[in-house]
Amino acid sequence: MAAELMDGKRVAAETLEHARRRVGRIVDRTGVTPCLATVLVGADPASVTYTQMKRKRCEGVGMKSMKVELPEATTTEQLVAEIVRLGKDDLVHGILLQHPSPPHVDERAAFEAIPVAKDVDGVTFGSFAHMWFGEAGFASCTPGGIVRLLDAYSVEIEGRHAVVIGRSAILGKPMAGLLLDRNATVTICHSRTQHLGGVVQQADIVVAAVGKPRFVQGDWIKPGAVVMDAGYNEGNVGDVDFDAAAEVASLITPVPGGVGPMTIATLIDQTVTGAARQLGVDAAA
Ligand code: NAP
Repeated sequence: MAAELMDGKRVAAETLEHARRRVGRIVDRTGVTPCLATVLVGADPASVTYTQMKRKRCEGVGMKSMKVELPEATTTEQLVAEIVRLGKDDLVHGILLQHPSPPHVDERAAFEAIPVAKDVDGVTFGSFAHMWFGEAGFASCTPGGIVRLLDAYSVEIEGRHAVVIGRSAILGKPMAGLLLDRNATVTICHSRTQHLGGVVQQADIVVAAVGKPRFVQGDWIKPGAVVMDAGYNEGNVGDVDFDAAAEVASLITPVPGGVGPMTIATLIDQTVTGAARQLGVDAAA
């Protein structure tokens, strides 16, 4: 294997340690403990596990977490009302609506009920617009985590050609926006892209966000490129053919242990930032 592995677990642990120190300063200066509310509708086992993990990470950095669990039959109106209530609660600094919601729920309406200042998961139109216009705001957590990982490995983004495969609202599109904001030349690919392998071969930075196991082939990777695999498929397999890509890339994320841990670390870090802003303190030092 030629490529160096990008250790998302280590960088996430460092991010969380930094968050823990900032939480300590906020508590010292305001007497208020930052709090993330996690909202879960129904009892989908994967969603239950994800929200538990997020609450555990909150507590690990000294934050509070507020568990809001609503029955499967909750209507859009009831969910929106609950989120509006949390939005008005001064003791809640971040709101995370675990998705997917049950199919009868208008998830967009529920997301849009989250005040942008508390949208630490970066899911609202407002957060997306802030990101796209290069204004301070909260990034969608997986793409935000990918940029943090690139920075942790001192990968130069400016002027490089980044190819993002996937254009979902939570991953591909915000990923492209964040890379553009860092002055990369960005190409977004999707299911109708022609000659995908040839496009990816031009990339200095490849982000795979396709949702198909081992989809990105090793011979699509330009020698020395940086490969970020956001994919998480059954059997702990990413969207990149890891063994083949690692032969030619300079840096590559493993699955698991690459992009995955950065997502929650970004959520926690953004919640601390949200709390500091809402409480009017500078928790940086
Ligand atoms: P998604 O909503 O299903 O989007 C997949 C994207 O891939 C779509 O834009 C689709 O194009 C594109 N695509 C599908 N087939 C393609 C093909 N043959 N060639 C080129 N593009 C193709 O998935 P997502 O939510 O963005 O997630 C993507 C992956 O990231 C999944 O493996 C998911 O598990 C993982 N993920 C990881 C985390 C994390 O925390 N690590 C978080 C979220 C997601 P069209 O738009 O044309 O259909």
